[in-house]
Amino acid sequence: MTSNKEIIDFVLYWLRKNARSGQEVNWTVAITEEHTMIISKVGGVTSQTRGMALLCQSIKEQPWRASLKGVYLAKTFTADGVSNHAEMCILAAADSLGQKVEHMKCASDNCEACAHMLQYAKVNTMNGAGGAAMGWIHPRGCMALGTTLNDYWNEQIKELDRFNEAGEPGDFKHTFTQHQASEPQGGYEDLLKGAYRHDGVPGC
Ligand SMILES: [Zn+2]
Repeated sequence: MTSNKEIIDFVLYWLRKNARSGQEVNWTVAITEEHTMIISKVGGVTSQTRGMALLCQSIKEQPWRASLKGVYLAKTFTADGVSNHAEMCILAAADSLGQKVEHMKCASDNCEACAHMLQYAKVNTMNGAGGAAMGWIHPRGCMALGTTLNDYWNEQIKELDRFNEAGEPGDFKHTFTQHQASEPQGGYEDLLKGAYRHDGVPGC
């Protein structure tokens, strides 16, 4: 049987080869404990994202397709898309699906905020932890952080940990991080069930 890691590596390799855009995109792929695959990138992914119809076809041709209960694309979870990191789009989508992410791999290292969040959510990430992020939004509670707010990144990360340990309370006292007005809400699309004809490929 093909392992989660092998399936994730196949999809990441396929995306690197076939879904290139003008800039390097940190595609991220995860599989939940319920055997559902969730795919995203910074700012989220929808069925209208370039290459998704071909990806759908390619996945349907793989022998391991039958071992998955579904394949979803994770959309943004707040209106501020660029601060919706790929890993967090997936975590928020999994929450909305009522599932728990088991394995996750990103095309590059997780930023430190994502790394702390994934550890808190008990996700097995196949990446190392990178550094600071300019903007980052919490996928489960009303919190934003990042180096555009202030220069106290290490204090922001400590505050993120305290926020998580406290259960993401709405009345949390923010010192180095910022309160987000709107609640995050994970969104997703079913990749294998849509009829996507926007890039010339017959309905998948
Ligand atoms: Zn991140």
